[in-house]
Amino acid sequence: MRRWGDRSVIHYIVRMKSVCKLCANEATLIEAHVIPKSFWEIDHAEPPLRMVTNTEGVFPRRIPKGVYDQTIVCEPCERSFSDYDSYAAQLFLKRFNEFEEVRDNNRRLMGYMLRDVDSRLLKLFAIAVLWRASASSQTFFSRVRLGPLEAKAREMLVRGRPR
Ligand SMILES: [Zn+2]
Repeated sequence: MRRWGDRSVIHYIVRMKSVCKLCANEATLIEAHVIPKSFWEIDHAEPPLRMVTNTEGVFPRRIPKGVYDQTIVCEPCERSFSDYDSYAAQLFLKRFNEFEEVRDNNRRLMGYMLRDVDSRLLKLFAIAVLWRASASSQTFFSRVRLGPLEAKAREMLVRGRPR
């Protein structure tokens, strides 16, 4: 039986360290959600979500905590997203009834409007979701790639300024 003092266990822990894709420091990376967890838990009465794919040999599986990825960020970087993620959750999940429909002259729905929005936090939320999806190693997000814009998005997140 392995004990914590064993060399093999220590070697294993060291190997778990990786380079955080946001701060570029070597650190233990943590389970990070690309789409915040609160958005996966909108209706608690519903059964847990299932991920279904047409990839051969991959079977549907339940994803009660949503899709997360342990290859993106370290713990401090994950915490740096919390202002944006919780602001967006408050906006889209709690103030949902305040959205006003915007229609064109033919009464066609063009979008929704919400007053009193912190555009800086909202933009950083959208950038954070896109950047995490692009930086993710999960198959679920494999078709989201920002290309050269990924570095620009990362820079905006590091500076906390969406431009
Ligand atoms: Zn980091």
